[in-house]
Amino acid sequence: MNELSADWVLPVDGQPIEGGRVRWERGQIVEVGPGRADRHYDDAVILPGFVNAHSHLEYALYAGFGDGTPFGAWIKTHVERKGRLSADDMIAIARCGVADSFRTGITTTADYSFSGAGAVAASELGLRATVYLEVFADDPEDARRRFEEKRALVEETALVTIGVSPHAPYTCSLETYRWCLSLGIPVGTHLAESAGENEWLEHGTGILQGIPILVPPTGKRAVASLEPVLGPNLLCAHCVEVSGDEIALLAERGVPVAHCPRSNALLGCGVAPVAAMRSAGIVVGLGTDSPASTPSFDVFEEMRAAVSAARALERRPDALLAVDALRLATGDAAQALRIDERVGTLRPGKRADLTVVSLAGSPYHPVEDPVAAVVFGGSPDRVLETIVDGNTRYLKEEEEQWQEVRSTASAARRRMLALQP
Ligand SMILES: [Zn+2]
Repeated sequence: MNELSADWVLPVDGQPIEGGRVRWERGQIVEVGPGRADRHYDDAVILPGFVNAHSHLEYALYAGFGDGTPFGAWIKTHVERKGRLSADDMIAIARCGVADSFRTGITTTADYSFSGAGAVAASELGLRATVYLEVFADDPEDARRRFEEKRALVEETALVTIGVSPHAPYTCSLETYRWCLSLGIPVGTHLAESAGENEWLEHGTGILQGIPILVPPTGKRAVASLEPVLGPNLLCAHCVEVSGDEIALLAERGVPVAHCPRSNALLGCGVAPVAAMRSAGIVVGLGTDSPASTPSFDVFEEMRAAVSAARALERRPDALLAVDALRLATGDAAQALRIDERVGTLRPGKRADLTVVSLAGSPYHPVEDPVAAVVFGGSPDRVLETIVDGNTRYLKEEEEQWQEVRSTASAARRRMLALQP
């Protein structure tokens, strides 16, 4: 039996517990309630490990290039630089992505992986992950070939599930989507991320022109282009450019959405209507996307961005509450990934995926509202411990153990940027 206690426990699907304890056996939670364990964290909160609904672990070190460039040009730079990396480089960078995930309290990630490196790094280092192997293809036969090549390089484990990602409606045909969905594995895509996507699909014009991986225009907007395949099995990242009717369609079909407010804002794509999607009944999880478009895998920054963007868009302070943001990053994200029976909240029977966040010395301490304290006052520097499946994967006091992972990844970034060694 293992156990941990802290000043507060936030089960997320129940009331905060002051002086709470979580106990687990063989990686499964057996008790959540009041109590004190031998291992107790003062001035801290235990919460479910964060579930990142959208990431690209292998872009962990793609940070800080192309700032301010339009979406189309940004994608071109991205594709060109990726071409300079070896498979080992991609794995080295993905390991760094796993380290950064643990450091911000992420215990599960929905990773869209170009090379499969995310699956290798997650299983090596013990991050729970659904890894969607990316395909870009007009012809489903090409999709099959690309998928099978990548699939042969990665293994499923107790923690890592392999899925497939038809990249987006502007890089994959409807037939490719149909083939992906026929596999019966998790399927994730990017959808309605930018106005340029709708413009290309409807008219064959706009900022996406010239990207080498485009499929022919469909004559329809992004959501309408995928209408025949929309359903609960298709996780859709972004959904920025969605009209009221399109939101209603996504809700009716039970399509889960990964909301990435920092990525959408920084790429100048816009603000996804998260409050409208949630009130229409869409299951929305929060995703950090990757440092190719956002500054970091920092879930706390992402939750705050979600709150700020939703309130600014809706012009009302209750458009997204702290408690909503915490749900987006835990239980709701688990639901979007369809793994909420196993993770996302703290309750007996679920896997022991936990994060401990210190509030010592913060403006939120002494604690009045522990949820607001974590959402508005949390940061990776305040994460003391991250536990996946009952095993400690990150301890703040032992952070130096990640030094080699970080320096190997930096060397790969140097090659990607074509800098002198
Ligand atoms: Zn993405």
